[in-house]
Amino acid sequence: MAVDLQAYQQLKETLDTKGITLIAVSKTKPVEDIQALYDAGHRDFGENYVQELVQKQLHLPKDIRWHFIGHLQSNKVKMIAPFVHMIHGVDSIKLLEVVDKEGRKAGRKINALLQVHIAKEETKFGLDLQEARQAASAYFLEKKYEHVELCGLMGMASFSDDQQLVESEFKSLKHLFDEVKTVHKNATQFNILSMGMSGDYLLAIQCGSTMVRVGSLLFGRRG
Ligand SMILES: *Cc1c(COP(=O)(O)O)cnc(C)c1O
Repeated sequence: MAVDLQAYQQLKETLDTKGITLIAVSKTKPVEDIQALYDAGHRDFGENYVQELVQKQLHLPKDIRWHFIGHLQSNKVKMIAPFVHMIHGVDSIKLLEVVDKEGRKAGRKINALLQVHIAKEETKFGLDLQEARQAASAYFLEKKYEHVELCGLMGMASFSDDQQLVESEFKSLKHLFDEVKTVHKNATQFNILSMGMSGDYLLAIQCGSTMVRVGSLLFGRRG
């Protein structure tokens, strides 16, 4: 299935009025689909697999802002460090250190979000609340990781029909986000709360999301 441009226009309009950024999640989808959305004016795309992202960006316009939203292995950071716009899934201190190191090598500051584990499910990656607080302190207080621009937090709620559960998870992330901004007065660039996907973006927005990552609603189901 190709891109649903009507769904895109509708969603984009809704989000624009609220000042929320849309990341079009194009993982597993062909470059033609990305190009179609690009031609409709879209620039922010999200990918989960390093090799796939590296291949795609070679064949697509250079002004696309590529968001890496999946679990990132430390040894692969160098493959995307020169061009990636933002890494959403910084889910360990070790990975934060590697992003910093590769940013230095690439001669740039890499935008990053700390991924926080908010879901009840065991399988999802992320820092726990305490680790996220420590990482924020190391960055804003101790001024570590100079080649990282720490822009905010990212989280994924449980894959569940239980709206109350999902809502409480999103709220816990929003709470931490506000806390970091209150504690660290120099966190002026810490403004992104990346939460919400095709199935739960409306709830995420109600809970304070500033950036949603939407795939299947735009590109159709993944095979
Ligand atoms: C795949 C993916 C999305 C998009 O999921 P949809 O349900 O297709 O909207 C968002 N965020 C992450 C981290 C993903 O891996």
